[in-house]
Amino acid sequence: MDSLNFNPFASVASADALLDEAVEKAHLPKGDAWSIHKFGGTCVGNSERILTVANIIVKDVSERKLVVVSAMSKVTDMMYDLIYKAQSRDDSYIIALDAVLEKHKSTAVDLLEGDDLSNFLDRLHQDINNLKAMLRAIYIAGHATESFSDFVVGHGELWSAELLSAVVRKSGLECNCMDTRDVLVVNPTTSNQVDPDYLESGRRLEKWCSQNSCDTIIATGFIASTPQNIPTTLKRDGSDFSAAIMGALFMARQVTIWTDVDGVYSADPRKVSEAVILKKLSYQEAWEMSYFGANVLHPRTIIPVMKYGIPIVIRNIFNLSAPGTMICQPAGLENEDGEQVESPVKGFATIDNLALVNVEGTGMAGVPGTASAIFGAVKDVGANVIMISQASSEHSVCFAVPEMEVKAVAAALESRFRQALDAGRLSQIAVIHNCSILAAVGQKMASTPGVSATLFNALAKANINVRAIAQGCSEYNITVVVKREDCIRALRAVHSRFYLSRTTIAMGIIGPGLIGGTLLDQLRDQAAILKEKFNIDLRVMGITGSRTMLLSDTGIDLSIWRDLKKEKGEKADLQRFVQNVHGNHFIPNTVIVDCTADSYVASHYHDWLRRGIHVITPNKKANSGPLEQYLKLRTLQRQSYTHYFYEATVGAGLPIISTLQGLLETGDKILQIEGIFSGTLSYIFNNFVEARTFSEVVEAAKQAGYTEPDPRDDLSGTDVARKVIILARESGMKLELSDIPVQSLVPEPLKDSSSVEEFLQQLPQYNQDLAKQRQEAEASGEVLRYVGVVDVVKQKGTVELRRYKKEHPFAQLSGSDNIIAFSTQRYEKQPLIVRGPGAGAEVTAGGVFSDILRLASYLGAPS
Ligand code: ADP
Ligand code: ASP
Ligand code: MG
Repeated sequence: MDSLNFNPFASVASADALLDEAVEKAHLPKGDAWSIHKFGGTCVGNSERILTVANIIVKDVSERKLVVVSAMSKVTDMMYDLIYKAQSRDDSYIIALDAVLEKHKSTAVDLLEGDDLSNFLDRLHQDINNLKAMLRAIYIAGHATESFSDFVVGHGELWSAELLSAVVRKSGLECNCMDTRDVLVVNPTTSNQVDPDYLESGRRLEKWCSQNSCDTIIATGFIASTPQNIPTTLKRDGSDFSAAIMGALFMARQVTIWTDVDGVYSADPRKVSEAVILKKLSYQEAWEMSYFGANVLHPRTIIPVMKYGIPIVIRNIFNLSAPGTMICQPAGLENEDGEQVESPVKGFATIDNLALVNVEGTGMAGVPGTASAIFGAVKDVGANVIMISQASSEHSVCFAVPEMEVKAVAAALESRFRQALDAGRLSQIAVIHNCSILAAVGQKMASTPGVSATLFNALAKANINVRAIAQGCSEYNITVVVKREDCIRALRAVHSRFYLSRTTIAMGIIGPGLIGGTLLDQLRDQAAILKEKFNIDLRVMGITGSRTMLLSDTGIDLSIWRDLKKEKGEKADLQRFVQNVHGNHFIPNTVIVDCTADSYVASHYHDWLRRGIHVITPNKKANSGPLEQYLKLRTLQRQSYTHYFYEATVGAGLPIISTLQGLLETGDKILQIEGIFSGTLSYIFNNFVEARTFSEVVEAAKQAGYTEPDPRDDLSGTDVARKVIILARESGMKLELSDIPVQSLVPEPLKDSSSVEEFLQQLPQYNQDLAKQRQEAEASGEVLRYVGVVDVVKQKGTVELRRYKKEHPFAQLSGSDNIIAFSTQRYEKQPLIVRGPGAGAEVTAGGVFSDILRLASYLGAPS
């Protein structure tokens, strides 16, 4: 693709020459003694803020200063509205004008007194009377000329400059108020812009300074005159431009633009809450950002100051402690320690309300002058082309214009190319409405391969269709056109790709019970360290139980998740939950952590993995469920780059699955895995000694909280069988749960006891059998242990009570520990043994947590 972006730096040569001449001819004191400030509308939005501004001016120790001031916030809009109303013959312009009067009057009354106040109010009333007369004329004519409008709207700046001057004087600093219509001269251009006449402006500035003492000047932003002395403006948001022109005319040390944000952010902070302040920007970068919609700076501000290398600093009037953003020559862009700033993309900006025009046809290839004919027609209707891209086959030229102008553009093209369309040389002139431009800006993009790949990858992941692309030859920006409704999502997706930690993971936690709740608490305690030390940013975007769920767009505050879930919880809905966790496109990775024991939840894993959602779980149901589903899940896992981790399904946090996988992957052959997999049954048999009966020990285990609410769930051996099947399948065996013979320790007649109490009451009647087995074992120096066995050689699994010699590691277990012995080709004589607590919320949640960190490292986190 070839493309054309409008680069203002290409065409400033003649303006430069004039600027030089203006600067040289003048005899004003110039240079570093001057500092220029510009205060935006919000900075002078009310009396309190005007006082703050006055204070900043007074405290600036520069020898000479010029302060450019905007109209009080909203006033320029109010003024344009007056004209709109008057020319639409809407009488309410009179009330609207009263509101303008009232706003300034009350501010003046707050700030001034005595002569200062009466002088200001006299002027205000006089201006308002004049405006009333003018608006009346507009009302009668039903039309306002551009110069009438410019005259009316410029009053906001005149009043704010007068007010501020009076307040500065009152604060004890002598100053003069400059009506910049007496100084700045600009020529209108065709594209609703103006070009400063530096030479004439310099002359007039010289004259002004000879007539006014000029150590401190408060000047109006936005307004200027034509060479014929007709009032005009620098167009919307033009006060930044006024300040830059003044900076150049004085060759000032610095231009400080004061506004309501801490500086230039990596993206519009209203759209991307994660945006960060950019400490330094080159002139080019700042220009590209502002051209593509970052309205913190007027794009034309850069040109005058760049010529003299005058830095612009953007600062926040509401946060004086923030250093702001410095815009200067690239040479000054190194960090203090000399290293270049890291991200190749500095910032992103967007422009909405655009339409894309696509002129297509095989007849365009190789025909000189087609582009010129297209853009000639566009120029004739005065439309502003924001971006152009042409496919190299020359079959299509596509460009973006403001939505408001596209109708006229399309009509002009249709008429210009009527003949070509009729003859089929052009196949169509298509208009795609409701588009937005998203631009990525950064000087370092030029020398960094892969930036566009990363950008498009992020867009693709967020499922955003790119309609057109352009990259300027300077490589300072890549511009993409997307549908308007996708624009914010696109902005967030690309911003996070370049600015968030590479391992930012959106997490959804299902089942905030004992294990899930403990996991959330562990995450809460560890999150800050992970972020700081390892650049791993874990965000819990949703927590759901079976009844209620808590959702968030940016991440749940884990220090109060229980309260939040109570207060803000909504009805649980698994589909919406997953959509919220995964649909949040500003985070590149999603994981769902299933902490339930539910087969319904487990039945969704396949679908989640297919959608690119990683799954981590201690829930045994998926891996021990129907073989066919298990195989499908594992096949999908192998084929995709989506991860499925389930370490905590066997032995809680003990490294059992990972040990087994490690052995297999490195080519060892598993012969047998034998282990005590149940903490409960481990406890029971470790304590089934001397005079104690089996039922007594079961009772004690229940009292100590080692059993399930119904101990039969442990004694039945099913849970152990599930672990056996998980390890068997991991070892490559294709078994169903029903293929595993399980020796249940629940006496047959008690299987159907209606209650736990009844079961426990009747259990002593059956002590005899186990007591006998224990005696026999003891007689031969052995103990009883309840084990699960995966016999890979014979391709079968069992769960049963076995006898072990007193010296065997299984016989020496204590408490509720698990122990697992891997006999393999490598570990044939001495099995590889893993031993430790294999149950309990803390260790299980810890196992899940380490799977989450394993995922982070697979996704690129540092080790
Ligand atoms: P002023 O009235 O001071 O000239 P503006 O409203 O023109 O202020 O510009 C400041 C605003 O620009 C900020 O409040 C912010 O919302 C918006 N903005 C858009 N993009 C950016 C960006 N990349 N960085 C900082 N601010 C931005
Ligand atoms: N007051 C003008 C506007 O609102 C100029 C400016 O504030 O920059 O467009
Ligand atoms: Mg502005």
